[in-house]
Amino acid sequence: MSQQNIIIALSKGRIFKDTLPLLAHVGITPKDDPETTRKLILDTNHAHIKLLILRASDVPTYVQYGAADLGVAGKDVLMEHGGEGLFELLDLNIARCKLMVAGKPGSTDQPGRLRVATKYTHSAECYFAEQGRQIELIKLYGSMELAPLVDLSDCIVDVVDTGNTLRANGLEPLLHIADISSRLIVNRAAQKLKHREIADLVRQLDEYLAAEAATA
Ligand code: AMP
Repeated sequence: MSQQNIIIALSKGRIFKDTLPLLAHVGITPKDDPETTRKLILDTNHAHIKLLILRASDVPTYVQYGAADLGVAGKDVLMEHGGEGLFELLDLNIARCKLMVAGKPGSTDQPGRLRVATKYTHSAECYFAEQGRQIELIKLYGSMELAPLVDLSDCIVDVVDTGNTLRANGLEPLLHIADISSRLIVNRAAQKLKHREIADLVRQLDEYLAAEAATA
């Protein structure tokens, strides 16, 4: 039986680094190092499997529209995207962190409308709406920690790992929004048309993740 082509969307940096051992376990190795190559489509040791190297926030979009069959995306990115047309196949348990409200101590206790600076506008809106709190959203694209320091905002919503970046700027994590880890995602068409290849990959990854969890 001929094998269907499989395109997997990944992002550079943390997610790529943490995904490599998972792919290696299922016998997939890229031919180029994405940190050094300028190529955006990477061949692998399997002629029918290719990797797309994207900006993290674009991974769900490529999978949603079928330009990639599978993708690895952080739950933060998926929450922001909304997940339309996507299924989460596996929690890969990598690139773990927390989506938090952060600011100077006590900054969320003040009455009235909070000014919230973030690139996670959708998640922030949903979270504060659930809390019944009125906010003014200030959309930023990076260096969120700066906003409360120069009184652009009262607080920020960002992902926090060690908390070192916050502490270095006199801020602290204040409210927990969600635990984050990377997920393997698929679109409906690939799930149907490439079921055998994808189910095979998911089973092997699942076995590896279960073995890893047992030794942790
Ligand atoms: P921290 O370890 O809390 O100082 O994290 C440093 C910065 O790295 C944070 O401001 C985040 O923007 C980013 N970061 C940490 N963990 C992740 C993750 N799992 N995914 C994406 N960005 C992250």
